[in-house]
Amino acid sequence: MTTGHLPVAEPAAVRRAMLRLMQADRRAFAAALALNALAAAAGLAGPWLLGRIVDEVRTGHGVAAVDRLAVGILVASLAQLLLARWARYVGHRFGERTLARVREEFVDRALAMPASVVERAGAGDLTARGTADVSTVGTTLRDVGPELLVSTVQALFIMGAVFALDPLLGLFGVLGLTPIWCALRWYLRRARDGYLAEGAATSEVAEILAATASGARTVEAFGLQERRIAASRDALDTSRRTRLYTLFLRSVFFPAVEVSYTVPVAGVLLVGGVLHARGAVGLGDVVAAALYLRQFTEPLDQILMRVEQLQSSNASFARVEGLAAAPRSAPDEDSPVPADDRIDVAGVRYSYDRGGEVLHGVDLTVRPGERLAVVGPSGAGKTTLSRLLAGVDAPTEGRVTVGGVPVVGLGPEQLRRQVVLVTQEHHVFLGSVRDNLRIAEPAATDEELWAALTAVGADDWVRELPDGLDTPLGEGGSRTDGSQAQQLALARVVLADPHTLILDEATALLDPTTARHTERALAAVLEGRTVIAIAHRLHTAHDADRVAVMEDGRLSELGTHDELVAAEGAYAALWHTWHGEPSP
Ligand code: ADP
Repeated sequence: MTTGHLPVAEPAAVRRAMLRLMQADRRAFAAALALNALAAAAGLAGPWLLGRIVDEVRTGHGVAAVDRLAVGILVASLAQLLLARWARYVGHRFGERTLARVREEFVDRALAMPASVVERAGAGDLTARGTADVSTVGTTLRDVGPELLVSTVQALFIMGAVFALDPLLGLFGVLGLTPIWCALRWYLRRARDGYLAEGAATSEVAEILAATASGARTVEAFGLQERRIAASRDALDTSRRTRLYTLFLRSVFFPAVEVSYTVPVAGVLLVGGVLHARGAVGLGDVVAAALYLRQFTEPLDQILMRVEQLQSSNASFARVEGLAAAPRSAPDEDSPVPADDRIDVAGVRYSYDRGGEVLHGVDLTVRPGERLAVVGPSGAGKTTLSRLLAGVDAPTEGRVTVGGVPVVGLGPEQLRRQVVLVTQEHHVFLGSVRDNLRIAEPAATDEELWAALTAVGADDWVRELPDGLDTPLGEGGSRTDGSQAQQLALARVVLADPHTLILDEATALLDPTTARHTERALAAVLEGRTVIAIAHRLHTAHDADRVAVMEDGRLSELGTHDELVAAEGAYAALWHTWHGEPSP
């Protein structure tokens, strides 16, 4: 089921999205930038004042001047400290708000995707994007981004200051940075692939070990021990090699950078010495420039460290932002309105992405209020048909319509007033009882909620909950058992009030311990609605108004139970076998 991956945003789209996020909170972003600039400017005062002190001492001026300059240094450092803290605070707030925005967008987009798209891509992909990727982006926005901003502004200001002191000194300072630049290029060129390979090898080891452990019986039964051990050894070997490689990269890069930091300082001292000897620059300026370049290593260190994180986060952001390009369900605003409650299936063919066609031209009209049972051997296509009827997926050819309108073209609000698929998937969402019910009808009043709960026989236990409708459910909240979860799901159906229910018996209500509780609730919910039941128990078919027999992707028989038994076809054979009577 994992073809049709979810899209990944192109670099241009990622850049646009980043700009959009900055603009969305542009005042905070501008404030962070301005505060950082002020902090960086305050940071520049120290070395410059120290340079002045050197000059004062050389010219033999009094202690008073030196004292004044020293106080200046103190004030500047204090100002820098405070401004930097404030800048960080504003930056982090910007990051948190932006992260919240990214999360909200992600949820909105995920919810707007048709279920079939998620199913094809594999829910795991969406989960990974929503957890690991969003959290990587979060770290960037919260920590990496603000730090990078601080460091970049600092680095730029420091370099600017060296140039302002003396352009020639600045030039040598910049030239002195070339070794670091070369080391960085060398590292970045190899790091991405290196870390990707390391990550893949780690996953591979985990995968092999987990597969061997979970398939231990098979491994034993077929004497595969040697082979599994060899495979594990190979995977571990690869993992070791990839780790050694990234270790090698780090063990070259970081010492190289460490050493390179001294180059610009040494360069400026050397060149400054020569220039000073010729009287081209003052000694104070040389000292200040050397101190600046010494200071420069700090933001540079940060930048080098963060660039790596920025790269991996960029990849994550591309995956998160990729959802923007995923198909969306039809919006409710321009959702067409069905003329009546009639369901029509006309010339429907369906192929899964993988594998051939599984429905080969199905025609069926379901009358409002009718109970239709669909029976047939496993693999005949019953579940597939039920998904098309419920609008979960679109037919490859042909049309499934309700009141003349294609079911897949309906927006989610409109759809759940028409057709609802009832399965065993009774998820209780994190939130109060009320939240859990209002999923089906956001505008429902408490009275309507209680009426729905009463209809499915759940009013008693909900009333006994500590806070009634406000009691939190799910993890950490009040625990619900299987039958309560089913009742909540059925109460949702009552609230959505669709005229047609698709009931998959294969997955619905098969748990015998909960079946007794929910059988009556289900009967109440079915009351007064059109029901298309994918029947796995023949008594469902017997009680239905009509029975449709599916074989091999086609409807082979359609009629009432009595008609089909009399026709002595496939259904009659099934019926007789079930009754233990020999088929005639
Ligand atoms: P039934 O509900 O009658 O048992 P299904 O609708 O589940 O039949 O399956 C019909 C056919 O479609 C089967 O051959 C099955 O293998 C195939 N099929 C079902 N789901 C998928 C899927 N997600 N991808 C590919 N083939 C599928």
